[in-house]
Amino acid sequence: HVALRNKISAIKGIAPEHIFLGNGSDECIDVLFRSFCEPGQSNTIICPPTYGMYQVSAQINDIALLEAPLLPDFQLNLPHIEQLATDKTRIIWICSPNNPTGNLMHWEDIETVLNHFSGLVVVDEAYINFARQRSLITMLPDYPNLVVLQTLSKAWGLAGLRIGMAFASAGIIEIMNKVKPPYNVNQATQEIALAALKGIEKVNTMIIEIVNMRDALIDIIKKIPTVEKITP
Ligand SMILES: *Cc1c(COP(=O)(O)O)cnc(C)c1O
Repeated sequence: HVALRNKISAIKGIAPEHIFLGNGSDECIDVLFRSFCEPGQSNTIICPPTYGMYQVSAQINDIALLEAPLLPDFQLNLPHIEQLATDKTRIIWICSPNNPTGNLMHWEDIETVLNHFSGLVVVDEAYINFARQRSLITMLPDYPNLVVLQTLSKAWGLAGLRIGMAFASAGIIEIMNKVKPPYNVNQATQEIALAALKGIEKVNTMIIEIVNMRDALIDIIKKIPTVEKITP
């Protein structure tokens, strides 16, 4: 999928050797487990409530799952994460904006995890297009242990197409490309994705519309007398 990878490279401003394409980002998650964890030996940390696939994929690959639940304000519990992480811990999963709570994790907290943990820190940005914060992609040159996941399934509205992206240092991407099935992104998907990526202005208009509707919805909910607080 050279042409598609080059097109994504141009849009994101990241060299192709830093980009992995998966059959949806769900496949990126699975390939990360299979590339960097030892079944029956390694463990991984998630911060629930969060996206369910990290757990499903960990269990299928026989990787122990450790949980550092989010704080009451849905932010990362850094002391708990630190307490759980050992030399058997290979991946820490951070979903930002988080599914299902919708909030962004504090940028400094993600950097703290990246600075103190020597394994992989995967930041799942499936919903980044709707966020008022830039992507962690800009931090890739600073952190060789950072993996950023994005997808065409949400803002792009192409969940049925199955295109997920992982952005990381070249060494990580090289290993993931060796582990993935050789033809994981089929020709028809590549062609439709290339055509869709030409319509980036249309998608940006849709994103602005959705974000404006979110603001409008907040204004309406605010007027309901029984509502005490609206979390972001
Ligand atoms: C939807 C979603 C995914 C998976 O997306 P696909 O690319 O369709 O596999 C991954 N992470 C989060 C947080 C999601 O909400």
